[in-house]
Amino acid sequence: MSADPIPVIPLHPANPCMTCGACCAFFRVSFHWAESTAGRPDGVPEEMTSQVTPHRVAMLGTLSKPPRCIALHGTVGEAVFCSIHPARSSPCRDFAASWENGEPNPDCDRARAAFGLPPLEPGWWQPEHDGDEPPHEPRPIRPRRRRKRAA
Ligand code: SF4
Ligand code: SF4
Repeated sequence: MSADPIPVIPLHPANPCMTCGACCAFFRVSFHWAESTAGRPDGVPEEMTSQVTPHRVAMLGTLSKPPRCIALHGTVGEAVFCSIHPARSSPCRDFAASWENGEPNPDCDRARAAFGLPPLEPGWWQPEHDGDEPPHEPRPIRPRRRRKRAA
C-alpha cells in the first residue's frame, strides 16, 4: 500500500508570499456569499466557508483565535501555498504585499510582525531575488495600488 504523495510546494524565490502566509493566519477573511460556489461555479468552495451575516461568509478558520485559513497549506514563515488560489475571494486577490505594487502595505507588515517576520523591502520583488535575504537595490516601482480588506 502506498501513502498519499506529499504535496510539492511551488516555491517562487521572487515572490516572498510563498515563504510567508502570515496574512492568511492573521486576518478574518470575509466576503459576500455570491463569491462562493453558492453563487458562482468557479468561486470559493462553499464548504470552506461559514456564514457570518445574512449576506457574508468567512473562510473557515479565520474566525478562530488565532486565525488560520482552512485553505492555507504549509508553515507560516517557511513555505506555504493557497489550495484554492485561482478561486480565492476578492479580499485575498486585492491584498497587496508590501512593495508588490510599489508601495508599503501596513497590514502586510503587521501580519508578518505577528510571526516575527521583518517587513518586506522593495528589493524582495526583484526577479533575481534568492528568497533568503532582501537585496539592497530596489527594482523600479510599478504605479499600481491594491489594498486588502480582509475583515
Ligand atoms: S503577509 Fe504580506 S508577504 Fe506575507 S503572504 Fe501576506 S501579502 Fe504576502
Ligand atoms: S483563501 Fe488562500 S489567499 Fe485567502 S486567506 Fe485563505 S489561504 Fe490565504
